[in-house]
Amino acid sequence: MAKTVVVGGGIGGCAAALALHRAGADVIIYEAAPELKELGAGINVQAVAVSVLTDLGIPLEKFHAPSEGDAIFTSAVEYFTAEGFFISSEKVGLAAGASQPQLSAHRAKFHSTLLAECLRVLGQEKVILNSRFTQLESFEDHVILHFEKTTTKDPMPPVRCDFAVGADGLKSRVCRALLGDGAPRYTGRMIYRGLCEVEAIHADGCTVSLCGHENGNFICYPISEGMREKGQFLCNWGLCVLRTHPGGEEKWTSEATLEEIREELEEFGGNRFAGLTPLQLAERTEKIIGWSLFDRDPLESFDFGSVTLLGDAAHPLLPYGSQGATQAIMDAEALGVSYQNAMAKGTGIRGCVKEYSDLRCEVTGKVVIANRDMGSTAVLRVAAVETQGMAVDEKRTWCAEHGKRLHDEVIQKYRASMPKSVRAVAER
Ligand SMILES: Cc1cc2nc3c(=O)[nH]c(=O)nc-3n(C[C@H](O)[C@H](O)[C@H](O)COP(=O)(O)OP(=O)(O)OC[C@H]3O[C@@H](n4cnc5c(N)ncnc54)[C@H](O)[C@@H]3O)c2cc1C
Repeated sequence: MAKTVVVGGGIGGCAAALALHRAGADVIIYEAAPELKELGAGINVQAVAVSVLTDLGIPLEKFHAPSEGDAIFTSAVEYFTAEGFFISSEKVGLAAGASQPQLSAHRAKFHSTLLAECLRVLGQEKVILNSRFTQLESFEDHVILHFEKTTTKDPMPPVRCDFAVGADGLKSRVCRALLGDGAPRYTGRMIYRGLCEVEAIHADGCTVSLCGHENGNFICYPISEGMREKGQFLCNWGLCVLRTHPGGEEKWTSEATLEEIREELEEFGGNRFAGLTPLQLAERTEKIIGWSLFDRDPLESFDFGSVTLLGDAAHPLLPYGSQGATQAIMDAEALGVSYQNAMAKGTGIRGCVKEYSDLRCEVTGKVVIANRDMGSTAVLRVAAVETQGMAVDEKRTWCAEHGKRLHDEVIQKYRASMPKSVRAVAER
């Protein structure tokens, strides 16, 4: 059996390891983090990706039960102007007729569920922490990977494998090793994120809400099923705004203060989520983290012989339309299918990598481009542009009259353009 190394044990890396294992590969994960901490805030995972995970054998309850993943079944995404006028909403997940729900989850809990499954299925010894990938050497029929201990920087013994998958995230060193200059570019935007508790639910307790315009937009959604059941709202919020370069390549996340964003939040004071304005939600937040947003042009291929890329390492996505984790998981599905097909056809690892690249490179490149244009959130920009200069009442009336058109022309058009599950397409 070919030995497969997945570099990076994030959401994409864990999903890839599970899909490859299911397809018959002997998989080992090398992860840079010395220990797994509760990092990140909320994440939305589309129904199509949840189907991939349940097909891989993870029961939905592992993601949803309050004592486990605690994720909420998202029912809708609603869009408001900066002043608080309702523009449109879209049903998602089960409410939109999908076979699985869309999940609003705490990223760390969602990741823990995947990691626990990897530990269970692959075995403890196949998930190696504190191992930072540094370099690779590619040969005709094998790859040598170099790692160092993250904590001490001591080099580790080289790892020889038949197949290497770079799932090491936005600042992928595997990508850099393959392409030389694969460094992502700062987009001029930051997203400030936080978590707070509210003693009431917002809407049906399962809704994602957005407001604002192109240069500033606010998102909030609940991420705890346990709290929702008690009539409360563990609110994950994010404010995406223009910012000059944060300086220094490494400084892409940092703790922020409310004062840095107070004025921008005040602009959205006409909006209320669970009775609170965006500023009031931020005021209830203990720790605000600012994330610099980076981007990279779509790659021409994911085919590097016996090495490939997956998730953010392959296609960093701006955080619009909830696609980051979703597309990483769908990459994993395609990789598993390609591996299985290649082994059945006898085309080996190179056949697998070629098929995977054909299935996913172009379609994910289109998501990168669509997300540069704000994805479904572009509805905020379109409404702001088309109502520019209108009086308040006129704006309200305009939103009521044009909401359905914007839903079809912007939101649904974006959703319809998203890649399909390769397994579902093959089965049809
Ligand atoms: C700490 C963190 C917090 C995040 N929080 C949010 C959030 O709140 N909301 C949201 O929507 N998205 C968040 N994201 C992004 C989101 O998780 C990803 O877009 C998505 O899940 C795609 O996952 P990925 O596996 O491709 O990349 P990632 O989730 O970035 O995973 C990459 C993994 O590779 C590991 N790694 C990196 N370099 C090396 C190396 N040299 N050698 C070995 N391992 C390496 C990292 O430690 C990480 O575990 C976060 C990502 C991270 C890393």
